[in-house]
Order: sequence, then C-alpha cells, then structure tokens
Amino acid sequence: MDPQKIDELAKEKLSRLVGTDTFKTWLEPITVENVKEKKVTLSVPNSFFKEWVIENYQDKLKSVLEEIVGQDLSVEFIVRRETEGREKRRYLYQQEKSHTMFNPKYTFENFVVGASNQFANAAALAVATNPGKTYNPLFIYGGVGLGKTHLLNAIGNFVLKHGTVDPDKVCYITAEVFTNELINSLRYQKMDDFRNRFRKMNILLIDDIQFIAGKERTQEEFFHTFNALYEGMKQIVVTSDKFPRDLENIEERLKSRFEWGLIADIQPPDIETKVAILKKKAEEENIVLPLDVAFYIASHTDDSVRSLEGCLKRISLYASINKTEITLDLAKNIMGGFLRKKEQPLTVERIIREVAKYFSLKAQDIVSKKRARSVLVPRQIALYLARKYTDCSLVELGEKFGGKDHATVIHSINKIKEEINFNTELKNTVEKIEKMLKER
Ligand code: ADP
Ligand code: MG
Repeated sequence: MDPQKIDELAKEKLSRLVGTDTFKTWLEPITVENVKEKKVTLSVPNSFFKEWVIENYQDKLKSVLEEIVGQDLSVEFIVRRETEGREKRRYLYQQEKSHTMFNPKYTFENFVVGASNQFANAAALAVATNPGKTYNPLFIYGGVGLGKTHLLNAIGNFVLKHGTVDPDKVCYITAEVFTNELINSLRYQKMDDFRNRFRKMNILLIDDIQFIAGKERTQEEFFHTFNALYEGMKQIVVTSDKFPRDLENIEERLKSRFEWGLIADIQPPDIETKVAILKKKAEEENIVLPLDVAFYIASHTDDSVRSLEGCLKRISLYASINKTEITLDLAKNIMGGFLRKKEQPLTVERIIREVAKYFSLKAQDIVSKKRARSVLVPRQIALYLARKYTDCSLVELGEKFGGKDHATVIHSINKIKEEINFNTELKNTVEKIEKMLKER
C-alpha cells in the first residue's frame, strides 16, 4: 500500500478520534514514510515532538495504522529533515481543501459575546439565518485575533447545519488563497473555471481582504465576482483589519461597494469577556481553570483572543506534563517566562534620562545651555536617539531640549548620524545606550 494513501487514511481517522487542536498540533505533522514487512516508519519534525508523541499517542497511532493496513505492525519514529518540496506539497494540499471545510470549532455557540463583538456577532447571525436578504455585503473589521475568522466559519457552519445552502454553494476563502488561485488559473489558463467556481456560490466568505491591497489583477477579478454575486442577491461577507475607507491601495470602486451593506467592527474584549472566553475554551478542552487564574491570564495578555488561547494552552500543557493542577502560582511562573510586558513606547524624557545616566550627568545638564564637550556630545546623542525612536517633530524636540532652535536640533542629529559611520567609539556608545533603552 502506498505510504501516502495510508497517511491520508490515518489522518482522516485520527482527526475524528481526537480534538482538532490535538490533531493539528501533534498528529497532523506526522508523516507516514514507508511500510515494510511489518514495520511502519513515521517521521516527525523534531525530537521533543517524537518523545511527546511516543508517550501520548503511540498506541492510538499504532491501532489506527493496523486497522488500515490490516495486520500487526511495529511503529518506528524518525526525525525528519523538512525539505522545501514537501512543505510546498503539504501547503498546496491544504489549500485545495481550504474552502470546502469549516473549522468545526468556530461556531456561534462557541463564540463568547461581549460588548466588544456583540454587533458583529448579531450581524453575522442575521446573515447566516437569512443569507443575501438582510445585509449585503456584510463587512466585518477588527484587529488580529479578535474573532473575524471565527465568525466567518460560524456562518458557514450554521448554514450547513441548518441545510439552508448546498454545501458546494458556500465557500470560505482567504484573500490570500483567492489571489494564489487566481495566479494559478492565469498560469494554467483556467480562468473560466476560476470565475465560475466563485460566481456559482450562494455565500462567499472572504477573509482578510486587506491582502489584495496593491494587487490590481486580483482586485479586478474580485470586483467582477462581487458584482455577479451581488446582482444575483447572493451573500457576500468580507473581513478586514481596517475600516473600508482606511484600506490603502485598494480601488475606490471596491471600497465603496464594501460600504453598500453593513459594516460591523470587533473591538478588543474587556477583562470580563476575556475571562468568559477563557472559561469557555477551558471547558471545551476539559481543563480545570480556577477563576483567579483566568483573571490573571486575562489581565496579563494583550488584546488578542489568540494570545489568551496560547497562554491557556501552555499553562495546561505544563500542568499536564508535570501532573499538577492549574494554580495561580503555576500560572504566574509560566507566564512570567514568556509574557512580553506591554512594550512602552520610548519617550523623549526617558531617552534624556538614560543618556544622562550613561554619562553620569543630570537630565538637566542635557537640556541646559552648557556647551562643554562633556555635555554637548551627550546632548547630541540624546537628540539623535529621540529623533530615531519617537515621533516628535524637530520643533517639539527643540522645545523638549530646553528651547533649542531648529538649526541646532538638525545639526546635532546629523552630526551623530554621520560621525557614527566612521567613529567606532561613538558608534559603540550609541549602541550601548540603545540597548539600555530597549531593555525595559
Ligand atoms: P481574527 O481572524 O480576527 O484574527 P480569529 O477568528 O482567528 O481572529 O480568532 C482567534 C482565536 O480566538 C480563535 O481561536 C477564535 O476561536 C478565538 N476567539 C476570538 N474571539 C472569540 C470569542 N468571542 N469567543 C470565543 N473564541 C474567540
Ligand atoms: Mg483571521
């Protein structure tokens, strides 16, 4: 039997046996390399992965493979060296399947509604219930990891579950895949197929439209697809990271069409919604998550829901490896290690302070009128760095540096900028200060 076939069958079976996340993380990356005599060789991406899989999924894998091959097998794992060709094949394969399947976990039931996403959720639900009739197009925009893709899939899952639309008449596609497929269709002269495929849809869900910025041919094609569907009263849902007007390098006629229907935004969730999301995700994965830990995670992550999930996963993985419960201490411990503190933008004041500290001066010296070399050079460096790392205009810098005039500010900045190129001592100094600035 062909290893690739076995691979496909095994994945298909396994995906039904374990949760999607487990499958995606631990099973999907495994490849059946060959089957000889009674031995099957599986390749995995790295040795940590190998240990984890052997410990946790070996038995399951073995029995699934035995079922497929129809005989007892021994299983051997090797760590593979990923080749580019293989990556590409896998990628293409995923692409092919990408718009016939919806992520089963992205449903309306699993979407936690709070003030930040209430409107988008209601609009998506209205569209799913009455495609093509209520809001067309529906345009959902919001920052990364806030649930846009989730809502698109929820619409797809909803209409399939309720049988309102033929499964092959609803299509989810990212603007990126749309573009790639367009390019391939052009290359292989399959444009008619391409057009027909999208124009026969009853619901077209297109994710991350900002991707087509600057891609004229894609915009052109999408424009015609849009018109055909719109005229046929077919539902179009578009997501984007920005409000239509704020999309750069996208044709006017497309932007204005995006405004024809309903525009719904998704804002970052508040703490309570974040906690509710964490509780929900924990429940889905059978993780016991105490409320204080949920609050701790919620208040120590950035706005994205994806980061929340990432934290939860890491903490629960850690707890399960160490066979302990999830506690606040444990969470603090783990999060301390990987949490990036919210990066504070650099201020002119801080730059002045750090430069002064470096040269054992006082901040007042830097902004004073003193012209001694021991103060002059640090002042020039501070100006140079302030220009580089803040958005202050030259005038503002002049003010913040004790009322220096425009010419002085420019001269100082340029002096350092040029001298750095040949004066290695100066260069080292500046780099050291930059490092200090980035450390906190
Ligand atoms: P986007 O497409 O906006 O970047 P996603 O839809 O991919 O974000 O969401 C990132 C992750 O966060 C997904 O796993 C999604 O299920 C989850 N998520 C986002 N918002 C919610 C929510 N309100 N309730 C439950 N899960 C959510
Ligand atoms: Mg997305």
